[in-house]
Amino acid sequence: VTLALRVLGSEPAWPSAGRACTGFLLETPGGPVLVDCGTGIFERLRAVLPPERLRAVIISHLHFDHWADLIPFRYYLSFGARPERPPTLHLPPGAVEVLQRVIEPVDPDPRFFADAFETFEYDPEGTLEIGSLEISFRKTVHPVDTYALMVRTSGASLAYSADTGWDPSLADFVCGADLFLCEAGWGADGRAAGDMHLSGAEAGRLARMGGVERLLLTHVAEPEAPVTVRCARREYRGPVDYAAPGLTVRI
Ligand SMILES: [Zn+2]
Repeated sequence: VTLALRVLGSEPAWPSAGRACTGFLLETPGGPVLVDCGTGIFERLRAVLPPERLRAVIISHLHFDHWADLIPFRYYLSFGARPERPPTLHLPPGAVEVLQRVIEPVDPDPRFFADAFETFEYDPEGTLEIGSLEISFRKTVHPVDTYALMVRTSGASLAYSADTGWDPSLADFVCGADLFLCEAGWGADGRAAGDMHLSGAEAGRLARMGGVERLLLTHVAEPEAPVTVRCARREYRGPVDYAAPGLTVRI
């Protein structure tokens, strides 16, 4: 096992009681890495490890349910833990300025995040290296710039759809992944807004087209999970599970 994924939160933008929005902890040989940091994730993270021990945080896009808990995380780093080597924060292109504009009316400190995290914007055309991880990016179909991730390390690969509407070319990007963590925000129905989220059936179709080894469905409220998983199973014959909070998958 060279890579493990622990689900911290997998709810849609309005989390249920005791649940969190999107956030996943990757346990890697080079240290723990957090992928997305939505509402409720910082508290879930603290239940698992001291957050300053994270090597890096990667944000897929700037919808609040994927980054809102960077705010309590920032306060913790600035006023609580004050680590000598803070986690690196990897944001989509242009995000540093956007976050600054969001924060400025309540805190004019131009280095609100940069003083707490070591902050970078990733290059979606390039490869981001974090320890032994090699991470590549693919822009998805979503109302704001959003990037799916392919995380590779020796002998293991994890694909994460981030948020996306239907895009058959995403199957090429996730091709052959050991684990495909895919959103199924529309659950059982394929609703009209195809440029926003996938249904369970569409997630299953992508998994089949990409020939992945295993499918894990996220961005799903827990009561919707069983029917969403059933829809995906009709399209994809490999193992399908709901990314239940607390679930750990070794890759
Ligand atoms: Zn989104």
